[in-house]
Amino acid sequence: MTNRTVLISGAGIAGPALAFWLHRHGFAVTVVERAPAVRPGGQAVDIRGTAREVVGRMGLTARIRAECVAEHGLAYVDDDGRVRARMPVHAFAGEGIVADIEIERGDLARLLYEATRDDVAYVFDDSIETLTETPGGVRVTFARSAPRTVDLVVGADGVHSRTRALAFGPESAYVRPLGAYVAYFSTPYPDDEGWFLLHNAPGGRVVGTRPTRHGRTSALFSFLSPPLDVDRRDVAAQQRLLAARFADVGWRTRELLAAMPDAADFYFDLYGQVRTDRWSRGRVALLGDAAWCPSPLTGQGTSLSLVGAYVLAGELAAADGDHARAFPRYEAALRAHVQKGQELPGGGLSGFLPASRAAIRLRDASMRAMTSRPLRRLTTRLFFSQADGLALPEYAATR
Ligand SMILES: Cc1cc2nc3c(=O)[nH]c(=O)nc-3n(C[C@H](O)[C@H](O)[C@H](O)COP(=O)(O)OP(=O)(O)OC[C@H]3O[C@@H](n4cnc5c(N)ncnc54)[C@H](O)[C@@H]3O)c2cc1C
Repeated sequence: MTNRTVLISGAGIAGPALAFWLHRHGFAVTVVERAPAVRPGGQAVDIRGTAREVVGRMGLTARIRAECVAEHGLAYVDDDGRVRARMPVHAFAGEGIVADIEIERGDLARLLYEATRDDVAYVFDDSIETLTETPGGVRVTFARSAPRTVDLVVGADGVHSRTRALAFGPESAYVRPLGAYVAYFSTPYPDDEGWFLLHNAPGGRVVGTRPTRHGRTSALFSFLSPPLDVDRRDVAAQQRLLAARFADVGWRTRELLAAMPDAADFYFDLYGQVRTDRWSRGRVALLGDAAWCPSPLTGQGTSLSLVGAYVLAGELAAADGDHARAFPRYEAALRAHVQKGQELPGGGLSGFLPASRAAIRLRDASMRAMTSRPLRRLTTRLFFSQADGLALPEYAATR
């Protein structure tokens, strides 16, 4: 094999999924993750369309299904918690979406780690510092570990990828802010309703709660905003900002904000999409959010990562490790599929974060209409894009 050693940056979803397949194809894999352990947190994410087939081929369907979150659907509530519009999952039975797998992101990340940790070297609490390509490999220095030379490097380190910054250039050229921010964190409050509840407030703000598999409530806060000067590592500053922005919002906002400082899994980021004109440079490739983050608004990030990991590893194996052949083939196989996955659902940001009371009422009314029987098929198309047009290539595994 031409190239055998692969260093992956990031142990989120894409990194461990790639490690799984590369190991199966006979590569020696190391994953470096900046966090001290696999990061918990995030809300339920969907495994849709072609990605369901990938987890099937990984032999993980039963384990993932055992940890799925059962949600009755989505409901919009007013200040007093009265339901204004509902989109029950069962209303779409027969429209092809009920077979979706929904699992908390942290649970999926842990399952992928557990499926690979015996075969792959994981280095936590570390990060790539520099990358220097040589004719025969890539010389890598780290924040903590000793330098080493590997054959190939894959950046699966998320929307703010350090690998992309080192190999492709500054983030501003690749990350397109969509004009809003989002925060997720878990709270100690029990959830016995089983619904994804959203409460919109004027000014393009929304507060939401979702049930978790552990009987607790997971909170979501999101608001329209141009890019803000807030440090991505400064959790206290992010929490102060949220508390100030939502101070006057009704429903359960006050009790959710009260639980925020104690959450161990607080996550805050802009809604952004990553657009790169290519996914590799020399011996360095990008995968998942680092390459093409579609934004959580699409519900496609996890599915695209799982499919991308399968294809990237498969193409490397098919080319006998020759990245010069494999990387362009990986991109050619996936570009159109990824572009489809990046399409925002009907209404885009204004459907999720309507700016005024009138716009909120209009959105609720259109949601009621769209859940009605005659419009369900259209709603399915607008809101549950499957990005499943890809016929999964076959790659022979060596183990
Ligand atoms: C904590 C968290 C919560 C999330 N919650 C949601 C959600 O609720 N809904 C949703 O749709 N999407 C969510 N996402 C995004 C979602 O996980 C991705 O869109 C999708 O799964 C693609 O995964 P990825 O592996 O490419 O990126 P990510 O899941 O973002 O994983 C990237 C990994 O790289 C690590 N990393 C970052 N920088 C470095 C570095 N310099 N060196 C080494 N490692 C690094 C990060 O710690 C992370 O573990 C969340 C992401 C995170 C990290």
